[in-house]
Amino acid sequence: MLEKLKESELHVHMGGCLTAQDLADVAADFYRDIDWQPYCENYLKTFGQVADPIAWFDAAILHHDLEPLKKGFVVTQKDAGDFARFQARFNLLIYVARALRDRMGNQKPFLDRIFARHRSQGLRYVEYRAMSGVADTYEKFIAFHGEYAMACLQASDPQMTIRYIASLPRDNALQTYQWLRRMLDELPHLREVVVGIDFCFWEEGLPPGSLNAFFEKLHLDNASNPDQALEVVYHVGESFFDKSIESAIRWCHEAAMLGAKRLGHAIALGMDPAHAVARRVDAHVSEPVSERLDQIAYDLEHAVSLREFGVSVDASQLLDERDLLQTVPSTEKVSRKYDDTRLEQARLRQQYVLDQLTKLGTVIETCPTSNLRIGDVPTAADLPVHRFLASNVNFVIAADDPGIFDVTLADEVDWVAQHSHLSEAQLAGRLGDPMRFALRPVE
Ligand SMILES: [Zn+2]
Repeated sequence: MLEKLKESELHVHMGGCLTAQDLADVAADFYRDIDWQPYCENYLKTFGQVADPIAWFDAAILHHDLEPLKKGFVVTQKDAGDFARFQARFNLLIYVARALRDRMGNQKPFLDRIFARHRSQGLRYVEYRAMSGVADTYEKFIAFHGEYAMACLQASDPQMTIRYIASLPRDNALQTYQWLRRMLDELPHLREVVVGIDFCFWEEGLPPGSLNAFFEKLHLDNASNPDQALEVVYHVGESFFDKSIESAIRWCHEAAMLGAKRLGHAIALGMDPAHAVARRVDAHVSEPVSERLDQIAYDLEHAVSLREFGVSVDASQLLDERDLLQTVPSTEKVSRKYDDTRLEQARLRQQYVLDQLTKLGTVIETCPTSNLRIGDVPTAADLPVHRFLASNVNFVIAADDPGIFDVTLADEVDWVAQHSHLSEAQLAGRLGDPMRFALRPVE
């Protein structure tokens, strides 16, 4: 019943696909040569525990005991709510990947293992995405994305179609987008495999509107050359403690209006606002003046349709507030407390935006395990997937970082099936074939 949902993976990060076993296999010849000192210092600082990666690798490689390495590497529920813990564990693979690149000049052994595993799991279609933290020149950019895209192209076959999405930095989107186009002009054989652009990593402080120039250029390029069109997938509403619930909901809508075809996570649209604000002391209470002003402009612009969903928009009050805030520096903070009425209004805003996404045809990529372990969703009952299921929005289930979470796409799908009120047949019918949301149709 659920086969189709388990055959197409539309949201995975290449690095996050690596398992503890992959690390042990690849690093077997050189793990003792790596300078682990900075890694261990950061691990101690983050977890208050001593890391001994050489002992972990010894156990895995010499004694076939993977548990110590898994204990150091796999991100579990105990790490939830703290991105620094995710990063401290992810660093293990960064150290191994760097050493591998120094020795071989590429990441082929890692990539081969990822493709082989997904093939053995029965995946038929995968869009991999990857981001380089060091590609600050065109030469480094093409070396990184060129290698990953080429590996995807070579590994793709009729049994498992593989496509590549380049993750670009939000704060340097336009320039890196132009690098991507230049790469595809210089290496035109990669056009077949590179289907889109992703924005991931920190979203705080980088509103969708800061990417206006990028989206304008992309739409112009796509219109003038539809054969080489690139689509956008966009992580949004995943981590939003720096702003109000209303602004977090609005960001999801704004990313869709800018033209993102799929949104990564959009937890802000599916987690109950009362539970979101209860996650931390004063969570979502304050935000920069600039955000509040953006929210006022949004509410005024969408007043008619917001009211249709029961959201009250008092235009004259908003205009007064705007006049007052325009005299205050935009980086200063404004605070507004929550009460039951405001929380209920936020729920109506979520419904409004879910309805707008449905009309726009925007698809949400929802990743239950990731939401629990790094998305600050407190309990399984709070996962946004429940609200998405109850709405008409198009969404897909994905694994995000299956290696470091030690899960599979099939696990994620089964989890949703077990925790939804729908039968397997109903769930399969509700979600349909995720392949139809591939960034480019597969022939
Ligand atoms: Zn992701």
